[in-house]
Amino acid sequence: MAKLYFYYGAMGASKTAQALMTKFNYEEKGQKALLLKADLDTRDDRDGKHLIRSRVGLESEGGLLSEFCDNYQEILTERYDVIIVDEAQFATRAQVSVLCEIVDTFNIPVVTYGLRSDFQGNLFTGSEALLACADQILEIKTMCWCGKKATMNARFNENGIIKEGDQIVMGAGSNYTALCRKHWKLGMLHPM
Ligand SMILES: [Zn+2]
Repeated sequence: MAKLYFYYGAMGASKTAQALMTKFNYEEKGQKALLLKADLDTRDDRDGKHLIRSRVGLESEGGLLSEFCDNYQEILTERYDVIIVDEAQFATRAQVSVLCEIVDTFNIPVVTYGLRSDFQGNLFTGSEALLACADQILEIKTMCWCGKKATMNARFNENGIIKEGDQIVMGAGSNYTALCRKHWKLGMLHPM
């Protein structure tokens, strides 16, 4: 039986690299993988092609989750052995429902990767829906500067940590880092 997997982690936990490696592992065995990303982040797209790029340098072209969800009945007339979704925190509830249907009706495993919570410590919509319905929920760990597990995402600029603002800000002006809950609460981006 196929399953819906949700791998979650904080910023910098190598989620995208793992999504790309999952694709590679399937293809190495001669299987067909469909790589998608939830749509909000299209900064890396070139010439209408959607690029999925990890910080360690791996990259691959992929499709957009929204386009897939609009046409999946047609797309899945071709057989895929796995569907992989990066940036799954940006998925809508309706898109997560489609992913559940792919597993339940088409019996294709769906492996999703995303952030659990935003810079204010609230769940993203896609992550909330995936935490509620995934068959397997797995953590990809990364560390705070103090050595403890980082579970929170901090937005910061040259003046320090930012706790107010829109959930998603693309492009320049702010950066993100993963912190343990204590240092996120204290707003400590590094040792004093
Ligand atoms: Zn810490």
